[in-house]
Amino acid sequence: MRTALIAGNWKLNKDHLEAIHLIGDLGLRLSNLDLGRVEVAVHPPFTDLRTVQSLVEGDKLPISLGAQHCSHHHHGAFTGEVSAPMLAKLQTRYVLVGHSERRAMFAMDDQVVHQTAKAVITEGMVAVVCVGETEAEREQGQTLAVLERQVRSAIAGLPDNVADDLVVAYEPLWAIGTGTAATAADAQDACSAIRRVIESTLGTATAGSVRLLYGGSASSANAFELLSGPDVDGLLVGGASLEAQSFCDIIAEAIRCYR
Ligand code: PEP
Repeated sequence: MRTALIAGNWKLNKDHLEAIHLIGDLGLRLSNLDLGRVEVAVHPPFTDLRTVQSLVEGDKLPISLGAQHCSHHHHGAFTGEVSAPMLAKLQTRYVLVGHSERRAMFAMDDQVVHQTAKAVITEGMVAVVCVGETEAEREQGQTLAVLERQVRSAIAGLPDNVADDLVVAYEPLWAIGTGTAATAADAQDACSAIRRVIESTLGTATAGSVRLLYGGSASSANAFELLSGPDVDGLLVGGASLEAQSFCDIIAEAIRCYR
């Protein structure tokens, strides 16, 4: 049985002092919850990772550490980049790969997404590969074709036994930061299609174990319904993860759904 993952993507928010405050608040609230089959992760900016890791480890908080990106290069003349081995040394467990903001603003194409996913997995971390269609693609009925291309390219050549090292997040671009989430039915359909693509590439057992997330304006108001889809195993949460209260309200809905 798959567990749920509720992951908070802080994007370009929270300096390290604000991160200390948010993690403290989150840790306190989580101590009042019985997480059961729900795992919680946060993806702070690079400059917060060491701080968050120390707090999580020191206070034994039930929070997994995630990063928002890394280079597909190991080392060398790549000014401003951070490598997968550097993240692994900080006990980072999850790395977002190919978030739509990286694809759109930092020229991350399918090939680089694939190379980055491989680099993350090689270092023993979990690649959270983000895929999703634009509004125009959706209107032209291309959603499933776009998802198939992005997923197939990202996982091509990965070993069959990669189930624990891979998460795929369906994040329709028109839903990110807009306040308009996909319907639960659309999220389920997309995740089901993604699972079929994984099955055809990596086999039935892996496809059955890989966790698929939905992301895009998730909130406590829609979390339960979104998570009720049999192929939706969690949520990638942007805006609502920036406050401990709103993030925990979503986690509480996930606990209710996975009881
Ligand atoms: C995201 O950017 O990954 C995201 C899901 O953002 P939001 O929840 O703010 O739509």
